Amino acid sequence: MKAIVIGGGIGGACAAIALKRFGIETAVYEAVKEIKPVGAAISIWPNGVKCLNYLGMKEALRELGGNMRFMAYKDYQQGQTMTRFSMEPLIQSVGEQPYPVARAELQSMLLDTYGRDKVQFGKRVTHVEESDDSVTAWFDDGTSATGDLLIAADGTHSIIRQHVLGYATERRYAGYVNWNGLVEIDESIAPADQWTTFVGEGKRVSLMPVSGNRFYFFFDVPLPKGLPQDRTTVRDDLQGYFAGWAEPVQKLISQINPETTNRVEIHDIEPFMQLVKGRIALLGDSGHSTTPDIGQGGCAAMEDAIVLANMLQTNSLGIEDALLRYQEKRACRVKDLVLKARKRCDVTHGKEMAVTEQWYEDLKSETGERILSGMCETILGGPLE
Ligand code: FAD
Repeated sequence: MKAIVIGGGIGGACAAIALKRFGIETAVYEAVKEIKPVGAAISIWPNGVKCLNYLGMKEALRELGGNMRFMAYKDYQQGQTMTRFSMEPLIQSVGEQPYPVARAELQSMLLDTYGRDKVQFGKRVTHVEESDDSVTAWFDDGTSATGDLLIAADGTHSIIRQHVLGYATERRYAGYVNWNGLVEIDESIAPADQWTTFVGEGKRVSLMPVSGNRFYFFFDVPLPKGLPQDRTTVRDDLQGYFAGWAEPVQKLISQINPETTNRVEIHDIEPFMQLVKGRIALLGDSGHSTTPDIGQGGCAAMEDAIVLANMLQTNSLGIEDALLRYQEKRACRVKDLVLKARKRCDVTHGKEMAVTEQWYEDLKSETGERILSGMCETILGGPLE
């Protein structure tokens, strides 16, 4: 059996590693010459961590992961702590800890694990064709690749999605802009072992530790879509949006490097239940594009990879049957994650300001129990409980 994997991001790389471990021949085709992930870092929650452990990256991931032992919310004006609690009960409940990691390092770990030399870069798929017993991907350089099945891990802008669904999907603007990057840890801004989030006015400023004495930071601001993006004004823009916010936020803005700060308009796609067609499977963002509000998009791609590989490995009724079983196992799970993230997004970003204000009030009486039990439920819904 030979699988053609389109896209060498988190989903494609994990799928390729998983299939390879089961002895299935794989070939990965990636559009760009060099993968430059959108976004500086990513939080891998225990459901994702378990997938990477399962794929043999347990030790490598620990080297990259930040030490996130506590979680805290802070009031935007005074910087007062609204709630602070240990992550330990979550870790004890689910059996693994979360690891925030720099994206470039995660991507390197995945490609090194699979074998970087086995990825064909600069191969952009333009269309796919299926026959009764094979599937062919055509690339923009006029070449093609044929296999027994094709895994479309070509991201949120997937061109293979339309072939699978039979219609075009629209990306939905979630109503806010996210700036993110990495900065050296400064404990006068936030503790080094804590996920700290300042909240107010439907905005947030968040810091998470990653390895190498760095914070992954992000700023979220509800804004119209399509405003000009200009690196030279990033600091001024943030100073404007966060005028009157507490001293640590001002300090963070002064310490970021505008050259390496990313600006992303956040989108998702209305969930759909069809993830496969014949010998083609959508995997990762091509099959479920979510806002990052519960940090599960990449983790879900890792879950997809494990489930798909397991279905192919354990099934003797053929590829199409295995892919349908993959769809059966994944469609509700990923729909649930997209909708959960959308709900969280709306509360966090002031879609209805009264609801957001109530959330701020609730945070003041939060012991950690409610937040961690919500996270637990999400995490335990994964395939490797
Ligand atoms: P991608 O990472 O987009 O990879 C797709 C790959 O396919 C790319 O390398 C691309 O070049 C290639 N490609 C595209 N088109 C073609 C083509 N035609 N032919 C060949 N190759 C092609 N998730 C989490 O789990 N935790 C988080 O904390 C988190 N934070 C996030 C923060 C932000 C601001 C954003 C935007 C997302 C966040 N996510 C997070 C989501 C996560 O980044 C995505 O879910 C994840 O990257 C999806 O992986 P993927 O492989 O499906 O897609």
